[in-house]
This record gives sequence, structure tokens and C-alpha cells, in this order.
Amino acid sequence: MKVVDMHCDTISVILNEQRKGKNTNLRRNNLNIDIEKMKQGDYLLQNFAMFVDFKRANNPLEQCLSLIDCFYDELEKNKDSISLALNYEDIIKNQKEGKISAVLTIEEGGVVCSSLACLRMLYKLGVRLITLTWNYPNCIGFPNFNMDNCDMPDAHLANTKEGLTPFGIELVQEMERLGMIIDVSHLSDAGFYDVLKYTTKPFVASHSNVRSIANHCRNMSDDMILELAKRGGVLGINFAGDFLEECEPGMKIRSTINNMVKHIRHVVNLAGIDCVGLGSDFDGIYQNLEIDHAGKMPELEKALRAAGFSEEDIEKIFYKNVLRVYKEILK
Ligand SMILES: [Zn+2]
Repeated sequence: MKVVDMHCDTISVILNEQRKGKNTNLRRNNLNIDIEKMKQGDYLLQNFAMFVDFKRANNPLEQCLSLIDCFYDELEKNKDSISLALNYEDIIKNQKEGKISAVLTIEEGGVVCSSLACLRMLYKLGVRLITLTWNYPNCIGFPNFNMDNCDMPDAHLANTKEGLTPFGIELVQEMERLGMIIDVSHLSDAGFYDVLKYTTKPFVASHSNVRSIANHCRNMSDDMILELAKRGGVLGINFAGDFLEECEPGMKIRSTINNMVKHIRHVVNLAGIDCVGLGSDFDGIYQNLEIDHAGKMPELEKALRAAGFSEEDIEKIFYKNVLRVYKEILK
């Protein structure tokens, strides 16, 4: 079964290790994702997030550009197996050539420095999806899990008051005009409803789960999932144990296939088969993972089949739903 994964932090880890003088690369490594593991898992497409920690980076935009440079460097070194995709046609072309598609994304929209010009230049560099916030407030809006003043905020507390800033509203509208995908994972509940109010096209929650199963503010409420589905968007199932099962703060819980199936089942029963996809968060979650690398994706496929999902359902969950959104949005 082909795989489309909406979120991983692999490039950030690779750049970090390369800066320490290690020879870590995308071809073969000991991370969750490398080319060989993606081939083993029958990957059609991986979104690669340029993750910038706004508080730790000296210059967030420079850090973002360094990550993009590393991303292109790895694509060039592996051009026999993987190729950039800017739109749906690229994905199909890469597939015909037997190559995995790589989509360039940013996790931390604050790198645009309150500038639509900066957003447009990032688009020209190939960025096609932006996760509007990480866990800090930024020029675009507010997150739910706000680490601005504290490393371990209350995971049960969703922010229903502070959404998008006036600049954030302009930015999401410009993203729609350009043909970029808006990602509301990490964004506050109020921000989610602002995106709904100020945009018209489908958007995604690239790596978030179901809050009514695991009560964490990084997950989505049933109402948000219903609204996302009505808009034609997709939620990507996150493999992090503490987003799959509720646990004590700071506790590392095992990520199980069984729990992934539970979340998928809930979304499908609630909002239909067309709004659920995959957003593993590989190489951004350091936990005890039952699916601990890209090559093991067929185990989730097997579990979904055993749980009664049809071939057509599994195709939608694994890749068709996300491709539908890409086809509609990306230019
Ligand atoms: Zn994230």
C-alpha cells in the first residue's frame, strides 16, 4: 500500500547531526526515516518539515534557510530515488519514474517575520505547506500547548480566546492565493476557527489526533474534526504515544498500532472516511514506538484490514485523501 506522510522532522535531525560532524544522511541512517526504509514501506510521498525552535535558534529565518539547503542537498545526493514535488503533476511524474516525492514544508510559520514578501519568497524556494505555529505565540497566531513561559504547560488546556493575529489572517489568505497548504496542527482552538472563518479552501491538521480519546490540546475536538471534514481537509494521525493515549504529564507512553486504529475508527465514524490520513511525526517523537520506522507501515495496513476496513478505505487513509487535497490546492 502506498504511503503519503504529512509530517516528519528528519531533516532537522540530519542537519543537527551534520553540524556535530557526523555523517548522518537521508540515504541510510539510524533514524525513523531514510530512503531505504521508505522504499521498504512503499512510500509515494513524504512531507519534510523544516522545524525551527524559535527560542533556541539565534536567527530563525537563517535556521530555516539552512534546513532548506540541507533538504535540497540530500535530494541532490539521492536523485535516483527521491525528487521534489511542487504540485500534483510532479507527484505523478515522480511516481512514473519510480521515485518517492518530497514535499518541502515549514513547522513554525513565525520564520516569515511578519512579512508577506518573505512568505512569497519561501514559496519560490519550494515551500508548499506551513504549520502556522509551533508551541510559541508568533506573528501569525497562538498555539494551544504554549511553551512561552513554561516548558510543561497544562496539556488539557486549549486556548479558545487567542487565535490568528491581523497579520495571520492576511497570511492565510495569501497562502490560499499562492496555492500553499495551511496546517493547523499546534494552532490554538481559536486559531482553528479563525482559519475556518477567513479561508475558503481545504486545509490540514498534518499531525494531530482525536482529543475525545486522548485529552491533549495538541489533538482536535470532535467539532473541529467535523468542521475540517466539511471543508474537505484531512487530519494526519500522529504516532506519538502521548497523543494516542492519555497519560500523566511528562510520562512517555508506548505508541501502539491498536491505538492508531482506535483514533482512525473514531474519525471515520464521526466525520467520514475522506478526512483521515497519516502524519507520523517520525524523528520528532522520541518514544517507545511499535511502528518505529517507515519500513513498518505495512503493519498498520494489516491492522486496519483486520479491523474491518476495506481496501478502498485503507487506500484513502494511506494516501488518497491527502493527494486529493494536494491536487486541489497546490499549483
Ligand atoms: Zn509538531
